[in-house]
Amino acid sequence: MDPIRTAAQDLAADTVALRRDLHAHPEIAFQEVRTAGIVADRLRSFGLEPRTGLGGTGVVAVLAGARPGRTVLARADIDALPMPDDKTVEYRSTTVNACHACGHDGHTSVLLSVARILSERQADLRGRVVFVFQPAEEIVQGAAAMLADGALDGIEADTALGLHLSTMHPTGTVAVRAGPAMAAADAFRLIVRGRGGHAAKPNETVDPIVIAAHLITALQTLVARETDPVDQAVLSITSVHGGTAFNIIPEEVELKGTLRSFDTATRERHRERIAALAASIATGMRGSVDVDWRDGSPAVVNDETATERVRHVAEAIDGIDHVIVAAQIMGGDDMALWLQRAPGCYWFVGARAGEASSFPHHHPSFDIDEAALPLAVELFTKVILDALDA
Ligand SMILES: [Zn+2]
Ligand SMILES: [Zn+2]
Repeated sequence: MDPIRTAAQDLAADTVALRRDLHAHPEIAFQEVRTAGIVADRLRSFGLEPRTGLGGTGVVAVLAGARPGRTVLARADIDALPMPDDKTVEYRSTTVNACHACGHDGHTSVLLSVARILSERQADLRGRVVFVFQPAEEIVQGAAAMLADGALDGIEADTALGLHLSTMHPTGTVAVRAGPAMAAADAFRLIVRGRGGHAAKPNETVDPIVIAAHLITALQTLVARETDPVDQAVLSITSVHGGTAFNIIPEEVELKGTLRSFDTATRERHRERIAALAASIATGMRGSVDVDWRDGSPAVVNDETATERVRHVAEAIDGIDHVIVAAQIMGGDDMALWLQRAPGCYWFVGARAGEASSFPHHHPSFDIDEAALPLAVELFTKVILDALDA
């Protein structure tokens, strides 16, 4: 058997045990203190010298091979979600309203096993591997915070790599896509201002509720009428707040929403059009609107060559039976920011087998098929080695 496969299999029980420990002790965005501590301790035990506290709770460690060569960045996200864990398994969350319902516990454990396997081969390695353990992916702020804090200062990565476990795919399937793979996810808030008064005398008011209703409908035309039908975008208004009683027209209404897109030009144009359309409708109806825009992460765009290499490595692994083209996903992931630093690939590793692992990500009963973990360790390790050899 090949040595990387053997090493991944030998570490399988440990990978699962750590994943369960993290699962039982989930920490949400920027609160991953215990998790980051375990990550740093483990990295030190492999002989590495991690930098900690990057962007709050991020950890970076560089494994320098015995010989010079390329620099490969390998990233795992480490945060949990602010939601209950409804499972009855022994490793269910012990923290109120925190749950690893996206599989980031698995990502953390997998990348630590990868770091261990590669550290043990330091003498044979050519080049450097930069292990990045990133907080706060779920609020798409962790990567930006780490980069702003100098996580990559002095490091010029040649390629960036990462994986996401997926209950959308069965164990044994790897899904990977070249080009735009996950959407840019921006958020906005609109404050519609009118003039309040008595519900029975709307003519003496400027009703922000009616203005907001027109806005909600009109904004959908940006997708229906102003997006190239072969491109993709989605705009959702997800929160409407205004008013207090049946007989009072309020002063203002707050709308919140999100724009998801793949194409940079589409993203920029819609950002401008949301503001322009909202302003013209509000002023046309004698009110006004303030637009508060929050840039999310850009789209996850995979490099063609790096993607082909991942596909090639995956196809050669015993137990990975299907390597498929991943569907484009309108969800965002701030892996995008690491990929902006260096061309690379972010791919999905199937982790579904049976009822327990059949729930979608972010569901309170979400769990993964742990048989996917050693496969993910083997695949990630081999993809990194392949990238060092590129
Ligand atoms: Zn998630
Ligand atoms: Zn996730």
